[in-house]
Amino acid sequence: MLKVESRDEGGVRKFALRGSVDETLKFDALPAGSVNEVRFDLREVTRVTGFGGKIFLKQLQDLQNQKVSATLTNCSPPMVDFLNLVTSGFSGARVESLLVPYSCSQCRAELAATFELAVLQRAKFEIPAMVCPKCGGSAGLDDETSKYFAFQSKL
Ligand SMILES: [Zn+2]
Repeated sequence: MLKVESRDEGGVRKFALRGSVDETLKFDALPAGSVNEVRFDLREVTRVTGFGGKIFLKQLQDLQNQKVSATLTNCSPPMVDFLNLVTSGFSGARVESLLVPYSCSQCRAELAATFELAVLQRAKFEIPAMVCPKCGGSAGLDDETSKYFAFQSKL
């Protein structure tokens, strides 16, 4: 079940997507001329289907055609997996921040931390280890870094 919320704040339209991004994805049209940026909050995206992904990319393309800048924020791990699969590019959209999945080496708890992409780029994707909030053990990145961040070479 997908929920899309939207609100406007001084020339910026903010969309928050929650749940499975599928064929039911639909974006309200932008009021002509009054929005110059669209920000997507993708923290609660749990899955991206083939159809949903196509609709999302089409939206990015439409925004580029309308000369509206698009910013993706808080990309959840399923969203990042989707970005990694895209071969056609993102129509100039910017990825501002994303969630990085961690797991604890001791208790196997699954965790996630939010990073700004610019910070990760400056750190050359060296992700610091985290302390597991459940057991105090050391938690590291789940995936191979080069795979998880592959999308950023296509931005
Ligand atoms: Zn732990």
